Amino acid sequence: MSATENTPLPKAQPPVKFTGLKLSAPKKYAAGVPALISTAKHIIEETEPGRGFKTLMRLNQKKGVDCPGCAWPDPDDHRSALGEYCENGAKAIAEELDKKRADAQFFKQNSVYELSLLSDYEIGKKGRLEEPMVLYKGEQYYTPISWDNAFELIGKELNKLNHPDEAVFYTSGRTSNEAAFLYQLFVRQFGTNNLPDCSNMCHESSGVALGETTGIGKGSVKLEDFYETELIIILGQNPGTNHPRMMSALQKAKKNGATIISVNPLQEAGLISFINPQHPLEMLGSGTTLSDEYLQVKINGDLPLFKALIKLLYEKEQTNPGSVFDLDFINNKTKGYQDLIESIKEYDLEELAVGSGISLSEIRKVAEIIASKKKIIACWAMGLTQHKNSVKTIAEIVNLLLLKGSIAKPGAGTCPVRGHSNVQGDRTMGIYEKPSDSFLNNLEKVFHFKAPRKHGYDTVDAIKAMERGKAHVFIGMGGNFLSATPDTEYTAKALRNCRLTVHVSTKPNRSHFVHGEVALILPCLARTDKDIQASGPQFVTVENSMGVVHSSEGTLEPKSNKLKSECAIVAGMAKATLKSETTVNWDELVSNYDNIRDVIEKTIPGFDNYNQRARIPEGFYLPNCAREGTFSSIGGAALLTVNDWEEIKLESNQFILMTIRTHDQFNTTIYGLHDRYRGIYNERRVLMMNKNDMQKHGLNERDNVNIISHFNGEKRVAERFLVIPYNIPEQCLATYFPEANVLVPIDSYADRSQTPTSKSVIVTVERL
Ligand code: SF4
Repeated sequence: MSATENTPLPKAQPPVKFTGLKLSAPKKYAAGVPALISTAKHIIEETEPGRGFKTLMRLNQKKGVDCPGCAWPDPDDHRSALGEYCENGAKAIAEELDKKRADAQFFKQNSVYELSLLSDYEIGKKGRLEEPMVLYKGEQYYTPISWDNAFELIGKELNKLNHPDEAVFYTSGRTSNEAAFLYQLFVRQFGTNNLPDCSNMCHESSGVALGETTGIGKGSVKLEDFYETELIIILGQNPGTNHPRMMSALQKAKKNGATIISVNPLQEAGLISFINPQHPLEMLGSGTTLSDEYLQVKINGDLPLFKALIKLLYEKEQTNPGSVFDLDFINNKTKGYQDLIESIKEYDLEELAVGSGISLSEIRKVAEIIASKKKIIACWAMGLTQHKNSVKTIAEIVNLLLLKGSIAKPGAGTCPVRGHSNVQGDRTMGIYEKPSDSFLNNLEKVFHFKAPRKHGYDTVDAIKAMERGKAHVFIGMGGNFLSATPDTEYTAKALRNCRLTVHVSTKPNRSHFVHGEVALILPCLARTDKDIQASGPQFVTVENSMGVVHSSEGTLEPKSNKLKSECAIVAGMAKATLKSETTVNWDELVSNYDNIRDVIEKTIPGFDNYNQRARIPEGFYLPNCAREGTFSSIGGAALLTVNDWEEIKLESNQFILMTIRTHDQFNTTIYGLHDRYRGIYNERRVLMMNKNDMQKHGLNERDNVNIISHFNGEKRVAERFLVIPYNIPEQCLATYFPEANVLVPIDSYADRSQTPTSKSVIVTVERL
């Protein structure tokens, strides 16, 4: 699609405009009274308060509705009557219950170009979608289309392709288990494994490292392990904003005597102290101190830090064998010990300390703490997974846990915290471009068809295929593909290259305005909406970070009778595309989601008696060979690995930049313009820089700069950001996405997982 004289191309990037920056000192505690005020504000201002507060009382309760925010688990036992949600869970609910409507009239009055001039925040506040909308070739305005015509259009375009691999089927982590299973079934019946998902951009590096070292690409701990652990190490994660209820678990762990060590380039309020709104008396105080040690590593300094820790632990172990390492566990449950130790000996402690940005004395102090502990949990998020060497870093952390025998026992293990409510469930359901043969064999047996065996495109490869004209149809199940992915202008070109782009969404987002020749928006029911099918009201299931599968049922009357459930939308696309080719009775499956769960039970191990167990109020745990200590899928022994480290060399005028979220943001959904904990208000185009670096580069607070990334001789520019002094290590910078995603090169991704390196981009800063 190309711009014409009269119709410029819709904007792929958020508008370059300032909104009135206000600064204050960063907070030293998270939650407390401000969290209650913010919760009430979002519910009262954006929803019909009655519906809003009623929904909050069902949120994350047994037989309630699952929070569409992150994937932090709910307590297996007692759920708080005061509320089992956090401030950001409430914001997610306010988004779904938005009382405004982005209906046909709205699209009639606003062209896609005009809408693309708005910020992602403004677009998201336009309200819930009401009915299917189509944008025909050369048109500027979306117009209504019937569901049947929409499905027919999709079927026609897909069947026009020369090969099923010319289509891409993306999934965002909000999709329920039932819808995800149907989606992959439709796509594989269509004949491709092109099933990229948001996991590719977030915890793929965790999946690769954990799969190889512990036999399963998921974490091994349960929530209750936090209550009996001795030590929690939190790396590259900001729970105060991205997994807020985790702070309650950390508080309880502290009360039970645990030590907490945080490793993060930024001093995050949610790692410093927590005022628990569930304890009214606490509101009067300064809360519970969380971190006992805070290692403010430089960006990408985690691998050398853990190498230094292992080297120091080994040296201490040498003085008294068995006093530091769990030799029994190492000898009976692992392999690779000798190679690891030989490799560690090669490294120089001083060099490792410099590489981490932490003084050797601090590292020695932390090594002493670790040496004395037997039950250790390591938690991490994007701060570890979005670097070129992420798989190695995570494998090194696993090395430390294995040497300490700190896995497969109470109070110990791995904990990659998922950022999207069902991203883990989607992968379990088969949303994966590299499906295992055993999964495809089962699928063929249950559905009597030949499944495609050639691995498909992950997110990076899918963007490239569309940009190079090798893929012509993009279908997105949820999410905001353009704003979530790297190299914004490149991705925009890829989407514009398509003959058809389709987005299943609840609200407008920028991906709707940067589109293929023809575009469709298919409005689905939200998680809180009542889902009625032929057999009556339906519930869905999701899987949290700890591998608990549990139900979620929406009870709110949908505000439009032209919405469909994700499952019904998939069935509609499948029938219109596969026609008589299909071996699946889609209507029967959708008529009662028990039918979907029955076929899931037949296809995927661990879902025995699925329908019965899905009705257990607290849900059920899936098998986990790392938690069980069998490591069965990798031959019965966990793997100690050798992970070489090389320092990222920077020129004196270069920085390493990480893209992060504000406190008013969930992935690409912008709830508001404030980043309260960091003391940044009403502005998203800010660049956090160390005071000494500002001085060195002659920059003052609020100076206007361009950020330029440098990769393989290529330059990418993010225009106009306000420099602000911030407590961040020298030669390290932080700013927000999606505004900075334009800087992340499509070819810059983690080895082996292909996760875009959004946390380590080499940049320079140009003063305007
Ligand atoms: S911690 Fe995560 S899942 Fe829980 S309420 Fe908050 S956003 Fe939702």
